[in-house]
Amino acid sequence: MGNLEVVGRLAPSPTGWLHLGHARSFLAAWWSARGAGGRVVLRIEDLDSSRARPEFVDGVLRDLQWLGLDWDGPVVLQSERREAHRAALEELAGKGLAYPCVCTRKEIDQAVSAPHGADGEVVYPGTCRDREGSPERSGWRFRLSDSGDVGFNDLLAGAQVDSVAEQVGDFVIWTKADEAAYQLAVVVDDAFQGVTEVVRGEDLLASTARQALLQEALGLHHPNWVHLPLVQDGGGRRLAKRAGSLSLGALRDSKVEPQAIVQWAAKSLGMHGEGGTAQDFVEPFHWFNVPGGSPRVPSDWL
Ligand SMILES: [Zn+2]
Repeated sequence: MGNLEVVGRLAPSPTGWLHLGHARSFLAAWWSARGAGGRVVLRIEDLDSSRARPEFVDGVLRDLQWLGLDWDGPVVLQSERREAHRAALEELAGKGLAYPCVCTRKEIDQAVSAPHGADGEVVYPGTCRDREGSPERSGWRFRLSDSGDVGFNDLLAGAQVDSVAEQVGDFVIWTKADEAAYQLAVVVDDAFQGVTEVVRGEDLLASTARQALLQEALGLHHPNWVHLPLVQDGGGRRLAKRAGSLSLGALRDSKVEPQAIVQWAAKSLGMHGEGGTAQDFVEPFHWFNVPGGSPRVPSDWL
């Protein structure tokens, strides 16, 4: 590539209000890229048309600005990237790496007697792998090679090896609702936006092996990956997106200042700078300074 610029990304899904965990991930992504003199791009992951809502898009943009985060270039809406997603699907199908699947969730559950994968995901039994013809109404799955074993490095969690075959088997890359599945869309859009560093919550660690396989199949570069331990509430429970009381909007309403959130996030990421705005903390950022474990929400915000 000949271009070593760091390009980080903010990629919120507008399916709920952002909470402190999102804020910390976004700040970390932004500080890492800005601290290296790099760019930050924004992408709204609004593909899940059954759950994405316009008011959440507005909410996400307002919350990012409230935190003092900016971005470079236009806001990319994943829902407007359909042609590129479709082209990637066709490329994979043309290489024999994707096949149509007509199975319903119920049929898969019934066909699978073995225990589910580590994250409770059902391992697809491969029912449609060798089906002839191209059915009218189907999703598409990625065809794994024998093992589906993937090694990758996480800048925080270290070297990882995942077996996609054991996690999920041949996974969905195009849904029956006729839109790109998350894994495919992320890979295509990260490449389109030139992303070199993906910072996100640990709940997405299991997706990374699938994304790495798709990148290899499509001839795309791997970004650096960082998966942050999830923020916990005072009782040690992870914050769900619907935990409305800890949404950024609710904190704003209860007069918590964005500076307090920025300072809390900076401290939780092992930063020693001073100041009140996200910009004040921009300095070379090192993942090895980030303490392990899940940070807790300060008790006076609960
Ligand atoms: Zn099937």
